[in-house]
Amino acid sequence: MAATRVLVLNSGSSSVKYQLIDMREARGRRRLAVGLVERIGEQTSRLRHTPRDGGTRETTGVIADHDAALKAVAAELARDGLGLDSPDLAAIGHRVVHGGMSFTEPTVIDDTVLAEIERLIPVAPLHNPANLIGIRTARALRPDLPQVAVFDTAFHTTMPESAARYALDTETADAHRIRRYGFHGTSHAYVSRATAQLLGRAPEDVNLIVLHLGNGASASAVRAGRCVDTSMGLTPLEGLVMGTRSGDLDPAVIFHLMRVGGMSADEIDTLLNKKSGLIGLCGDNDMREILRRRGEGDERAKLAFDIYIHRLKKYIGAYYAVLGHVDAVAFTAGVGENAAEVRAAAVAGLEELGLAVDAGRNAVRGDEPRLISPEGSRVAVAVVPTDEEWEIATQTYALVGKDG
Ligand code: AMP
Repeated sequence: MAATRVLVLNSGSSSVKYQLIDMREARGRRRLAVGLVERIGEQTSRLRHTPRDGGTRETTGVIADHDAALKAVAAELARDGLGLDSPDLAAIGHRVVHGGMSFTEPTVIDDTVLAEIERLIPVAPLHNPANLIGIRTARALRPDLPQVAVFDTAFHTTMPESAARYALDTETADAHRIRRYGFHGTSHAYVSRATAQLLGRAPEDVNLIVLHLGNGASASAVRAGRCVDTSMGLTPLEGLVMGTRSGDLDPAVIFHLMRVGGMSADEIDTLLNKKSGLIGLCGDNDMREILRRRGEGDERAKLAFDIYIHRLKKYIGAYYAVLGHVDAVAFTAGVGENAAEVRAAAVAGLEELGLAVDAGRNAVRGDEPRLISPEGSRVAVAVVPTDEEWEIATQTYALVGKDG
């Protein structure tokens, strides 16, 4: 029997999310176990583990570091007969946030690859160190097993220079590797393919605008299966209004806050990444709460919603112009998949562009990709649930999986 399982690991600075996926099982059965370790290094660490055929088990107490976290995960998997020493495990797939221009494809990890991910830390100081710890720990646990890095940036490396470069002094930009890299790439890749499939067409035959609206949010313009523009840039801060990030603003706001506001670079970093966006505008970053408050006539929630939608609409218009012809607009992630009001507001008034939402279709909830535009629309509007773990598993398995 060939090994058919992939363990997908997404290591954050104080958390590890994981899924053990069987690549040969039917869609509803393929997730053998999913789980999350939170608050690593604190007194109140927590591991929640849900096997496919059983209830959720929760362990609390001190999980000192990522090594302890992965060992705890391995022990939980072993309890379900899914231990990491199983011959069925084909590979471990790691989410790595920043691959710079060095990694355009998923890559089998060796010491050279690790060194390059480390070299990229200056452009991803929040994410790459945590991803590296996860990789090193997993390699120590199973040194013989292929491990693959799947990069959030890789899907966007096809952007032309006209979209990827900022209009900065070229020498300065190059010296510091400043350019637009884009993120959420595994999601944009997965949703692009799934949208083409929903339309019954090959990815190479369609032009798409993908709107990944979660707590972080990004838009991408995809021509014939390749990304030609995306809204996040050097870091995930650029672009759309997000849960806690500002998205686009005049860079002079930063000097102003330094010179007039007396703030340090670190304080401004925290302000723009953690205290801006929806939470900065109205005190809530959860769209459910904002919609509820807006429904009750709360003015701050209403304004936050309007700013969010205004920015989204600008990106839809911009990417329509970049692509020239658009076959579909796809909504995905927490807000995009669930918030019918956001979808309706984002395309309201865009009938001249061939974009519209059918109220009845838009109100339907579900886990399957679906069209929400009226029958016969020039441009399809779709809800396409994302699945980043499956995408990471698929890319990992394609690189290492062998029939045997
Ligand atoms: P994600 O980052 O993709 O997990 O998305 C998380 C966000 O999705 C949350 O912060 C909420 O704002 C949003 N969300 C989740 N469920 C709903 C819902 N039913 N209606 C509106 N927004 C939702």
